[in-house]
Amino acid sequence: MPAVDSVALARRHVDEIVRPRVAQWEREGRLPRAALEAAGDAGLCGLFAPAEAGGGALTFAEGMPVFEELGRGDAAYGFVLSMHNAVTATLARHASAGVAERWARPLCSGRALGGFVATEPHGGSDPAANTTLATAVPGGYRISGRKAWVTLAGEADVYVMLCRTAPGRGYRDALLAVVEADRPGLRVTRLYDKMASSFVPIGELELDGVEIRTDEVLAPPGHGFQAALAAIDVARVDIAAIAVGLAAEALAVVLAHGRGRSLHEQPLLALQAIQFMLADVETDVVAGRLLYQRAAALLGTPQGPVAAAHAKRFCPDAALRAALACSEALGAYGWLTDTPLPRFIALAKMLQVVDGTTEIQRLVIGRELRRRADALEG
Ligand SMILES: Cc1cc2nc3c(=O)[nH]c(=O)nc-3n(C[C@H](O)[C@H](O)[C@H](O)COP(=O)(O)OP(=O)(O)OC[C@H]3O[C@@H](n4cnc5c(N)ncnc54)[C@H](O)[C@@H]3O)c2cc1C
Repeated sequence: MPAVDSVALARRHVDEIVRPRVAQWEREGRLPRAALEAAGDAGLCGLFAPAEAGGGALTFAEGMPVFEELGRGDAAYGFVLSMHNAVTATLARHASAGVAERWARPLCSGRALGGFVATEPHGGSDPAANTTLATAVPGGYRISGRKAWVTLAGEADVYVMLCRTAPGRGYRDALLAVVEADRPGLRVTRLYDKMASSFVPIGELELDGVEIRTDEVLAPPGHGFQAALAAIDVARVDIAAIAVGLAAEALAVVLAHGRGRSLHEQPLLALQAIQFMLADVETDVVAGRLLYQRAAALLGTPQGPVAAAHAKRFCPDAALRAALACSEALGAYGWLTDTPLPRFIALAKMLQVVDGTTEIQRLVIGRELRRRADALEG
């Protein structure tokens, strides 16, 4: 049991800061940096980073329930903290002493924000087709290319970026680097208008001869893809936990509403069709929680990536089913924006895509099944 109860701190952060303000953030369309600083004060910005870097040094099993709490408050806000934590932990783990000294504490404290940059405009599921090129120059690399779907574009102070070092298809040449947001040649070219989460800037970057030093390389050519995937596997489990939080909260909204509503001279919650729908949601919440907890326990072992894929495959789909079912159980009220359900439906859709779509998780699981078949004797 860690000395600090991060799950309780996350719950308090959600109750006092996220839930009361998220509708206002959505209306204003501006990233709530003060809230993220408060998240840093609560230890939520460096959950898995080592203590000497200012992090919480939590195990994945200890830290993942934090994301379930964040998902109860707002899945987009939870997603921002997932990406930020991916940057913080990756940087704290791989950075040179100088780079860690410059960035680890500010990131863990939430005073600086990090973006994790892999996807390119041609499509995120096929990193072998990436073309952003880091060319070796004396003392470092010069990076040129375009990146898409960058969460915190324009708000992040530092990016962890996946780049190729050779032209043509492939990923074995990839490196992972720290790119400071104010480097000459780096600019935000587009911010997307989205279905929800207007307060989270997501957009495109152009890099035109951006120079980085050798000591800003986190994983050299040949190791970049693996280092990025290790971070993405953790993020997949974060997302699964956020999805469970969203589904649990959707159910809580219906239970609170259903207590006071009668139909056909009986309570709404006594209608068997409603009970069956909600029973399925509850089973999904329980199953999803077990899946993300299992994946969290296996991260860092050879079984980690497939366990993460199972959790990421199941939980966002379950969250979308939950949000739709709970909206239906509210009748017309489920369509009103003074309930969170319309936002939950949009955000569950988002959770299916981020950090690798549901289909990509099936590919990971399918590859494992083929390996198992190949290992059969006879
Ligand atoms: C809100 C949001 C925030 C994001 N933030 C970031 C970020 O901060 N950093 C970052 O790097 N990326 C980010 N992404 C990008 C995300 O990782 C990609 O969207 C995702 O990897 C899918 O890529 P794509 O959208 O280009 O879809 P595509 O790769 O074009 O895929 C299109 C469709 O084809 C399916 N598909 C693809 N390959 C296969 C296959 N082999 N078999 C079957 N079906 C397949 C996909 O499942 C999908 O349905 C973000 C995305 C969203 C929506």
